[in-house]
Amino acid sequence: MEEKTSNRRFISLKLKWAFGTAVGSLVVFFIVAMAMFSSFTQSLFNQERDLLNQGMTNISRQLGRINQPLTKRNISNAIDPADGHVAEYQRPIVQELSDGHLIVNVYGRDRQPILSTGKSITKPTFTSRRQVKMMKGAAHKVIVGQQPIYAQRDHRRIGYLQVENKLNAYYQNYDRLRLVVILAMCLVVLASGLLGYFLSMMFLRPLGEIHDTVKTISKDPTKNVRVPVPNHNDELAELTTMFNEMLDRMQRYIEQQSQFVSDVSHELRTPIAIIQGHLDMLDRWGKDEPEVRDDSIRACLIETKRMKNLVQEMLDLSRAEQVEINFRDQKTVVNDVVHQVFNNFKMLYPDFHFTLDDDLNESITVNIYRDHLEQVLVILCDNAVKYSKERKEVHISLSRGMNTVEIGIQDFGEGIPATDIDKVFDRFYRVDKARSRKKGGNGLGLSIAKRLIEGYHGSITLESSLGAGSLFRIILPIVEDPEAL
Ligand code: ADP
Repeated sequence: MEEKTSNRRFISLKLKWAFGTAVGSLVVFFIVAMAMFSSFTQSLFNQERDLLNQGMTNISRQLGRINQPLTKRNISNAIDPADGHVAEYQRPIVQELSDGHLIVNVYGRDRQPILSTGKSITKPTFTSRRQVKMMKGAAHKVIVGQQPIYAQRDHRRIGYLQVENKLNAYYQNYDRLRLVVILAMCLVVLASGLLGYFLSMMFLRPLGEIHDTVKTISKDPTKNVRVPVPNHNDELAELTTMFNEMLDRMQRYIEQQSQFVSDVSHELRTPIAIIQGHLDMLDRWGKDEPEVRDDSIRACLIETKRMKNLVQEMLDLSRAEQVEINFRDQKTVVNDVVHQVFNNFKMLYPDFHFTLDDDLNESITVNIYRDHLEQVLVILCDNAVKYSKERKEVHISLSRGMNTVEIGIQDFGEGIPATDIDKVFDRFYRVDKARSRKKGGNGLGLSIAKRLIEGYHGSITLESSLGAGSLFRIILPIVEDPEAL
């Protein structure tokens, strides 16, 4: 896995995946946690401020009941009477003053401090209206509320009140919550990173196997190794199947290629050997014996003509394999081509009886290049003539199926043995090699015909019985709307 495919550094997909999921979940978690954290701390803060407001209201109302300028004595009398009995209405103030959250400072009308429940961090400003504000404390911010105290009876100003909330509980909760959020964030990043890593490891396993297979195949293209298809049906299973099919196809091409080269060299060996034999003969005796010379020259000419045909047929065969790409949009009216080939053969072989049974009562268009359809019909009619014996008859038929057109070419000649029926469409296959060669056959005609027809999504079939004759059927899909092509 550590191989470099380019100059850039190799970074495993697993790491990228793990990193991506970790960063993704961190971002999502961060946004959600921040929203929750700020709304929670805001509501905590609001609670603390309400507490302070409530405390100020209670204390100023209770002290207002004293109805005299505030002094140490009258306040302590109010909250700690000599008889030890605190009036019912004074109770809240005692509670407020003893509340650890708040620092209460009471000043007299002359702005001198009278009562303090703790060390205040701010100086009083003796405002004429209630003021609640945030101030900077030693470690963190505090809420400070200030207001004048008015007598309940005549609303005269009898003193000043300052209450501070140091927000200890708030900051304690704030710190604890922040710690929890940070820990949870670390946990989420770690867990999602690990999960991403293991999931990608699981998902990418087939890729690793494809990698190994490619490596093996690139070392030896003929090696029969395939990627195991994963059990679950997903994109990777599809990719693996497609990859294996591609390997099958590639190896088939390689095999066909080398088979073709060996077939061709085998086919060329005989004419070359014959030409060489005759040239040897010419060299030795041809100069003196005109009969030998003429025979040898004739034989050489026949063999070179055969080689020329062979080369042309091989070219046709290799072109027939590419019709799908090069002639995709071609269309041809079948009736015209069949009639033309029928008339040509009738003229070429006057000793044969050709019949055409045309069941089509309209012109039918198929998706095939005209010359290719003609070439296939010529191959089949040629064979029908070539392999006919005493009964020199060839039937051509033309009929229509649901969405197809069928062309039949039937002869009553030597026929093909059942064991050879599938093989006659293979390259260079001849039922009787010597006899076929004598008739000028290279064994390529039917394979060209099959490849051409299949290239246009048609099919070609054969029914034959030895000694009785053969029937070749071509089936081609009809183009319903010829203008659309
Ligand atoms: P060839 O050029 O040898 O005719 P083809 O590919 O056209 O090559 O045919 C392959 C073989 O199939 C022939 O050699 C012949 O043995 C057999 N064959 C083809 N057509 C017929 C037919 N109509 N009747 C009998 N045998 C046939």
